[in-house]
Amino acid sequence: MLTIDDLGDLRGKRVLVRSDFNVPLDGSTITDDGRIRAALPTLRRLVDAGAKVIVTAHLGRPKGAVDPAFSLGPVASRLGELLEAPVTLAPDTVGEGAKAAAAELAEGQVLLLENIRFDARETSKNDAERAELAKDLAGLAEVFVSDGFGVVHRKQASVYDIAKELPSAVGSLVQTEVEALRRATVDPGRPYVVVLGGSKVSDKLGVIANLLTKADRLLIGGGMVFTFLAAQGYRVGSSLLEEDQIEVVKGYLDTAADRGVEILLPTDIVVAPEFKADSPATVVPAADMPADQIGLDIGPDSGAAFGAAIREAKTVVWNGPMGVFEFDAFADGTKAVAEAMVDATAEGAFTIVGGGDSAAAVRTLGFDEGGFSHISTGGGASLEFLEGKTLPGIDVLN
Ligand code: ADP
Ligand code: MG
Repeated sequence: MLTIDDLGDLRGKRVLVRSDFNVPLDGSTITDDGRIRAALPTLRRLVDAGAKVIVTAHLGRPKGAVDPAFSLGPVASRLGELLEAPVTLAPDTVGEGAKAAAAELAEGQVLLLENIRFDARETSKNDAERAELAKDLAGLAEVFVSDGFGVVHRKQASVYDIAKELPSAVGSLVQTEVEALRRATVDPGRPYVVVLGGSKVSDKLGVIANLLTKADRLLIGGGMVFTFLAAQGYRVGSSLLEEDQIEVVKGYLDTAADRGVEILLPTDIVVAPEFKADSPATVVPAADMPADQIGLDIGPDSGAAFGAAIREAKTVVWNGPMGVFEFDAFADGTKAVAEAMVDATAEGAFTIVGGGDSAAAVRTLGFDEGGFSHISTGGGASLEFLEGKTLPGIDVLN
């Protein structure tokens, strides 16, 4: 895998960079700019090298057509502030506007192409269509730098096909991410504890099969807990439940028992009658959830038990909030995990936070990012890496 160093002198060269700028937006306000900041080291480096920097990225799911609600305008402004230099937003992705703007670039200037997912070919399942868009992108630049870690698990035109069109290298973000995740998967320090939560339950259940051969302890919180509790025969009220996964989860519990891997489930749950910030919260035993309530966080005993397991670990990977941390009343479980990880890091453990919402939780709950060994910008990508899958956007660079 080549790095930016291997690309030689970049002064005056047009460098196409794939970044991950898929930030959460409230109208046109960016509510968490973590992903933009994560892209800065590579972009600064290229600017300092005198390259003409052309960045391509996506935002949201605009369905392959121009949709002003998903314009990268707010990102261009924020990126300009962070780089302390104006960033031009091209009026289109690979059309006449983008070509003209790319042609006008001066050394050290940054151009952001409009949302690549405005072009349906980006995510097309048809190889020829994606290749066509990749050729259009390649026409704008001389070399390609892959730095959108959050999308490297996607076989998309600006991630995968483009690397076949131009000399390509990884950016420093992808490099850092891959190094951190390797450290957690190849000969990790033990005990190796994995904490899983969040709401994308079926997406994340897949990772468990692989982790059962690697981790020493799995701590389960968030929305997926209820499928585990149901697998043990408990009633879970109106909580998030993937009924069609109950049998799969039973299999995981059996495998874990056979292998001596400990699956730690919460013993108490914070419930409320409604999915609302001010819905009255109570703590109930996990084995005795009322039928008319929703489980919205792990309870305080569980938070303490999870914290203790994390503090004993030498490697911790955490993906997915323990509860609906966006509401204060249901943020304590997530806080307990984050606090324990900060303590573990201080004691010399290697700790990774993965997942867009988990990383956002760490920041919005007021934790210093320096308290963790690594905060990954890619949820899906980091999980697929942990699952041992090949990531097309990385594989194509090798
Ligand atoms: P990540 O982005 O870190 O991978 P996910 O996208 O899977 O995490 O899930 C994050 C979301 O999970 C958060 O918005 C949080 O509110 C939600 N969540 C956590 N626990 C629960 C729960 N018990 N019920 C419903 N949603 C939950
Ligand atoms: Mg998420």
